[in-house]
Amino acid sequence: MSNMPPLSPRVVVLGGGTAGWMAACLFASAWPQARVTVIEAPEIGIVGVGEGSTPQLRALFARLGIAEADWMPAADATYKTGIRFDGWSTRAGYTSYFHPFASAIDLHTAGAFHAHALARRTGLDVAARPDRFFLNTRLAEAQRAPVAPDNFPFEVGYGYHFDAHKVGAVLRNHALAHGVAHVAARVDMVDVNSSGEVAALVLGDGARVTADTFVDASGFRSVIAQGALGVRFVPFASNLFCDRAVTLPTPREAGAPINAHTTATALSSGWAWAIPLTSRTGNGYVYASDYLSADAAETELRRHLRLLDADVSARHLALKVGRVEHAWHANCLAIGLAQGFIEPLEATALHLTQTMVERFIDAYEKGQGTPARRDAFNAEIARRFEGVRDYIVAHYRLNSRGDTDFWRCNAANDHLSDDLKAIMTAWFTGRDVAAEVTRRDLAGFYSALSWEVLFAGYGTFPDDARLRPAPAPTNTAAIDRLLDGCLLNFGDHAAALART
Ligand SMILES: Cc1cc2nc3c(=O)[nH]c(=O)nc-3n(C[C@H](O)[C@H](O)[C@H](O)COP(=O)(O)OP(=O)(O)OC[C@H]3O[C@@H](n4cnc5c(N)ncnc54)[C@H](O)[C@@H]3O)c2cc1C
Repeated sequence: MSNMPPLSPRVVVLGGGTAGWMAACLFASAWPQARVTVIEAPEIGIVGVGEGSTPQLRALFARLGIAEADWMPAADATYKTGIRFDGWSTRAGYTSYFHPFASAIDLHTAGAFHAHALARRTGLDVAARPDRFFLNTRLAEAQRAPVAPDNFPFEVGYGYHFDAHKVGAVLRNHALAHGVAHVAARVDMVDVNSSGEVAALVLGDGARVTADTFVDASGFRSVIAQGALGVRFVPFASNLFCDRAVTLPTPREAGAPINAHTTATALSSGWAWAIPLTSRTGNGYVYASDYLSADAAETELRRHLRLLDADVSARHLALKVGRVEHAWHANCLAIGLAQGFIEPLEATALHLTQTMVERFIDAYEKGQGTPARRDAFNAEIARRFEGVRDYIVAHYRLNSRGDTDFWRCNAANDHLSDDLKAIMTAWFTGRDVAAEVTRRDLAGFYSALSWEVLFAGYGTFPDDARLRPAPAPTNTAAIDRLLDGCLLNFGDHAAALART
């Protein structure tokens, strides 16, 4: 790619949040001869709350050639083996479960999990809680770092937790070192020409910034896409009810152990995250304003954190949940919050941003921005976004809490996509979920294994009283031996971070 003439010689990114700098790094890496400029208004600032990633972020840093030792300590980062869900289900034995990131060794245990879950779905009394079957779950339970010695023969999947401001600074420094220009100024106007393309961004001092491709990374303001170009916003309010967040970080005690996972705890009208960094724990409550006031949400979060009387200030945020109809419109690509937002239950926002920019570069190189390429790109991004949304919706729809209107309305919510209905039907009728995921081409968003972990994690099986004894004993002890043996290869998380 680097020997090709620049396809889009001038790229201007509006916004210096994580999305904007991530895009600038990727454009500079893919099109070294292009002139890439980031414009940001320091007085507006960034949202600064995205603190968890999927394993995709590892691929980003690998692509940019930034070693963990060069960014993790600088961003107070920790390793993430997956997400623990507490209190989403009330079924006995299933009030907490773990959604692990996939590791290569799952190939040796996932088959057994699938078989056990299928047997239990069809009424046999076998162990089918997912936690027993996956290495990453055991790493999380033991607070081990998911970094294996070189002689460990399996690739271990992991993501990260980090301070969003600091990781943004790492990406900014990398971009600047690779020729990206930075303008600290506010865009007051977007000049759109008669063909509906962005001609220039007009700065506060009247200067006009022109480009071939404009990237809107201006956060929830969506200055170019929704603002100047009037791209329609498709809200997800009927699928996902949460539209507010309140955040409240807590300091980390020196020497305390560090979790290698995110915790997502269901509260009265949404859920609270706990994200462990080396310096602090990021906490927040994502809730639905139709069911809970801001004051009540803050009080509930403080009670949850045992901080009712503490003198720590909280930050309140309004969330605009949904996506723009066309992420790529005319000569503008909308990314990050300017393109859309799904609540961060599975921490997918940065993953989606990275994928979008990579796919855009690919589509642009193949088709030079022809309408056909653009339409195909937009259709793919919309599907991807909705694929992630459906997986999040399932967490709410399957809840068995019933203790508040919020949870009762979620359990009764019938605004489900055809894909989600089909997957749920496959599970509840004892059919093959993997076949349904493949038939509907959904594996690129969430694998069949992730779906099965979710259903089994909630304990959506026939009632215990209706279960029949299994005809032959199942060999979960062999899995315990394998995974416990593997665990010996991994060291303490906090100690590993101190060495990074
Ligand atoms: C509560 C919450 C929790 C989240 N948790 C996660 C998570 O765990 N994992 C995850 O991947 N994502 C998470 N996200 C999403 C994540 O925070 C964002 O995707 C990410 O931070 C990228 O934001 P952004 O760069 O699009 O926008 P922002 O950070 O808001 O940046 C916008 C930029 O645009 C600039 N700007 C705006 N208007 C103008 C103008 N007129 N002129 C010049 N500059 C302008 C601003 O100065 C700023 O630099 C979360 C989001 C929220 C709200």
